[in-house]
Amino acid sequence: MANYKLDTLCVQAGYKPKSGEPRVLPICQSTTFKYDTSADMAKLFDLEPGYMYTRLANPTSDAVAAKITALEGGVAGVLTSSGQAANFFALINIMGAGDHFISAATIYGGTFNLFNVTMRKIGIDVTFVDPNCSEEELQAAFKPNTKAVFGETIANPSLDIFDIEKFAKVAHENGVPLIIDNTFPTPINCRPFEFGADIVTHSTTKYMEGHASTIGGCVVDSGNFDWEQNDKFPGLTTPDESYHGAVYTKDFGKAGYVTKIVAQLLRDYGSTPSPQNAFYLNVGLETLALRMERHCANAQKVAEYLESNDKIAWVNYPGLPSNKYYERAKKYMPNGTCGVVSFGVKGGRDAAEKFMNSLELAAIVTHVADARTCVLHPASSTHRQLSDKELVECGVSPDLVRFSVGIENVDDIIADIQQALDKI
Ligand SMILES: *Cc1c(COP(=O)(O)O)cnc(C)c1O
Repeated sequence: MANYKLDTLCVQAGYKPKSGEPRVLPICQSTTFKYDTSADMAKLFDLEPGYMYTRLANPTSDAVAAKITALEGGVAGVLTSSGQAANFFALINIMGAGDHFISAATIYGGTFNLFNVTMRKIGIDVTFVDPNCSEEELQAAFKPNTKAVFGETIANPSLDIFDIEKFAKVAHENGVPLIIDNTFPTPINCRPFEFGADIVTHSTTKYMEGHASTIGGCVVDSGNFDWEQNDKFPGLTTPDESYHGAVYTKDFGKAGYVTKIVAQLLRDYGSTPSPQNAFYLNVGLETLALRMERHCANAQKVAEYLESNDKIAWVNYPGLPSNKYYERAKKYMPNGTCGVVSFGVKGGRDAAEKFMNSLELAAIVTHVADARTCVLHPASSTHRQLSDKELVECGVSPDLVRFSVGIENVDDIIADIQQALDKI
């Protein structure tokens, strides 16, 4: 499928039925798989290809992971039960207690808590850096036990555009991979591997599934990072005694990193998607390219409208020429960024609340990147656990309204904003 364009891959990649098989990806709603002999079954426990138990792998989920892998241009990928699990697995797969990693400070609130609270509790230390730091400042954050660098292509909700090439360069100079959460642009608008990222993660819950019906995540490996260049990644390069001494990089080559996620992390943590959810994700992916185009076109018009409205204090959308990331967005995402626009209403928190309560088409939900226009006040919801100082570091001001522009007719979306602003 490698030569097809992205919109073709959205529809076709991952599943190719043989003669007489179902045209649509079947849902293998089975926990287990049958073998004729115990010896046949035993091979699965030596990590030979095949299926034994859905906590580790399932044909429906694998087909969908293969589609996302094709879209990102990677060599191997795996679905997880959520985006949170994807980011956790991407890191814990190469780290343990006593290790350290570096993350951009401007990341999704849930990921910030995972890194800043939960992972610290299991002995994994993180240093948050300003995503616009210099190479020297980034270099200064490295320690002997640093194992990875992490960032979001477009930060949720601050919409900072990550300088993938800068972070990839410094990460590689230090012999560690760059892991990118590519949830907001999706591979339709940005393919981080083309700019030097090594691993990509997704909350497929957002644009990929697209209809706000299914939580899910994905991890994709570019296959480009050489895990054997140093001794930082013994989990991949030395024997795994829980599989009779298998060495992931030796025994599985470029699929080693993802095989380790399946064989160890899904086995032990069990953050596995249901085959039914993988099926829904696949249906969403079929229209991803169409939807992203519409989300971006609508968001551009909404951002331009907001910028020209005198009840609006500020507008943040990387597609506006006035935006500080306009040029960087053009470089990494020439066809558009995403459908999310953030802004402040004049009058601060109270005005923002009045505005949001007056919206009729746009719904207040803890969600983003949905086909339906939706809106959220991060400081009182997704980022509520953060202190004011952490809020500022995450790029979230107290008056920030996160407006996720859907695929409805843009005239109706703008009319809804207009009538809500009139009520302030
Ligand atoms: C929502 C989100 C996550 C978490 O994903 P879930 O599917 O909700 O677990 C991670 N990263 C980003 C950028 C997100 O927007």
